[in-house]
Amino acid sequence: LKKRYLGPVARGEAMFSYALSEAEAGSDAAGMKTRAVRDGDHWVLNGAKMWITNAGVSEYYTVMAVTDPSAGARGISAFVVEKGDAGVSFGPKERKLGIKGSPTRQVILEDVRIPADRMIGAEGTGFKT
Ligand SMILES: Cc1cc2nc3c(=O)[nH]c(=O)nc-3n(C[C@H](O)[C@H](O)[C@H](O)COP(=O)(O)OP(=O)(O)OC[C@H]3O[C@@H](n4cnc5c(N)ncnc54)[C@H](O)[C@@H]3O)c2cc1C
Repeated sequence: LKKRYLGPVARGEAMFSYALSEAEAGSDAAGMKTRAVRDGDHWVLNGAKMWITNAGVSEYYTVMAVTDPSAGARGISAFVVEKGDAGVSFGPKERKLGIKGSPTRQVILEDVRIPADRMIGAEGTGFKT
């Protein structure tokens, strides 16, 4: 993952956004509902991330999703999702009082199927990460 993504970021060719928050999981981030389900060599992600800085502009997204609903914060894993992955879309630009230098939008994930090697670190360590 480092080989694939850090080069473009360091060269200024691409950015990452950080996608943790959800409409019902802000301060209580561990209450997130976005789900990642394993399917062979892939993970399938479904959910909606809210208030994501630079959503739609960034090429890459660090997305936190629940991989084991019975394990609480230890059942959350982190993934790299790309803007061009099928099933990724963005909500309308939020109208804000300030911080107008960057857009804030929803990141919507509908059956986003990504290779298993896009998981960042070990399964269940996403929240700690
Ligand atoms: C401009 C902007 C950009 C953002 N960018 C990103 C981003 O790039 N990626 C991302 O993942 N998220 C992003 N966020 C989301 C941000 O992280 C959340 O807004 C934040 O976590 C707070 O969640 P919330 O808005 O749901 O507020 P809530 O959690 O609903 O909190 C509302 C109020 O209640 C208080 N409160 C909450 N829980 C308690 C408690 N247990 N006890 C006492 N008081 C409490 C809070 O302090 C706050 O004052 C962004 C938000 C904004 C406004």
